[in-house]
Amino acid sequence: MTYLDHAATTPVLPSALEAFVREASRLGNPSSLHSDGRRARAVLETSRERIAHALGAESAEVILTAGGCEADTLAVVGAARAARRADPGRTRAVTSAVEHHAVLESVHALADEGGEAVLVPVGADGVIDLAALEAEIAEHAARTGVVSVMWANNETGAIQPVAEVVELVRRHGGNAVAVHSDAVQAVGHVPVDFGASGLDALSLSGHKLGAPAGIGALLAQRTLPLAPVVLGSGQERGVRSGTVPVALATALAVAVEHAVATLEAERARLVPLRDELAAGVLALVPGARLNGPVGPAAGDGGGRLPGHVHLTFPGADVDALLFVLDAAGISASAGAACVAGVTQPSHVLLAAGDDERDARSVLRLTLGSTTTADDVARVLAVLPDAVERARSAGRVAARRG
Ligand code: PLP
Repeated sequence: MTYLDHAATTPVLPSALEAFVREASRLGNPSSLHSDGRRARAVLETSRERIAHALGAESAEVILTAGGCEADTLAVVGAARAARRADPGRTRAVTSAVEHHAVLESVHALADEGGEAVLVPVGADGVIDLAALEAEIAEHAARTGVVSVMWANNETGAIQPVAEVVELVRRHGGNAVAVHSDAVQAVGHVPVDFGASGLDALSLSGHKLGAPAGIGALLAQRTLPLAPVVLGSGQERGVRSGTVPVALATALAVAVEHAVATLEAERARLVPLRDELAAGVLALVPGARLNGPVGPAAGDGGGRLPGHVHLTFPGADVDALLFVLDAAGISASAGAACVAGVTQPSHVLLAAGDDERDARSVLRLTLGSTTTADDVARVLAVLPDAVERARSAGRVAARRG
């Protein structure tokens, strides 16, 4: 099998699995006061410290969550609600049009409760329009509770100018506006230093970097007011209730440390494979387009994540394409959400100016720890014919209306 869907989830690192199994076989709720509980608490706090240390944060800034969606919701909804409670005039939640649905749905939920959702446009390369963001913040800083701009896009792999976002929000809004970044696709793949970033909050997710699914974290400065979103017994600074899964936290610590330690070597290994794959597809498949920041300005992975190849094949039925690839032993992704079995046009490509038809005909190939040159060769051998068959299926579907 050739697995090219690492951005969806990536294999669990053996040492993370080992740490998980070892800890899962032990007893103790970290909130209990007896010795089993105290032992579990000590393991949890060590894991928290290791995660913090690997990412330039302090232990007290690590709020463990069930994953990326939960961390995003806590950051965006939690910060916006807290800001509004302190100052009812702070109603605006500002984000980019290409965010993950966890952030987009959060700002829409805030709008449903009387807030204002502002989606800042992106350019044709999917990168946020900083001038538009600056115009928005300059005019409305006093009415803004939270700004959330992702570190890297999950579909195109476009890396967003987070440092510039922080700088301009601080310049116009000081520290009163919370700045969050969804770094779920970035952590472990490009350098991320929470302390140096100047962000108030940053989301990450374990199963994107070698931990099992079901664990993630929100890094949040201690001074950031957050209204709790998951209510209950008050764990995790009182903003994320629920018994913390110590075994998963341990696995997350092992995986984050490993991903950060091997980041540069993996980047140096993957970028040439990524570029060979992209160049091969463009040469072999008529009409294929590569999405996201491309060309010299994108540098050696600086503009795009090292493992992302996001392609448009105009006229192709992407469900048929995935089916043909799967039959050939290649796991890939539609690059756009699938709702009730129907592939939706990619909101990321629509925001970048594509029409609905093209925004449906997309394929995301994401490379990772298991990817080799043989995988790239295999995809290049199969893809031209697979796209041709998917285009035939697309013509049949178009005729049927
Ligand atoms: N944010 C981004 C950018 C993602 O790519 C994902 C997962 O695909 C998420 C958030 C959600 O993460 P999780 O699956 O851990 O909830």
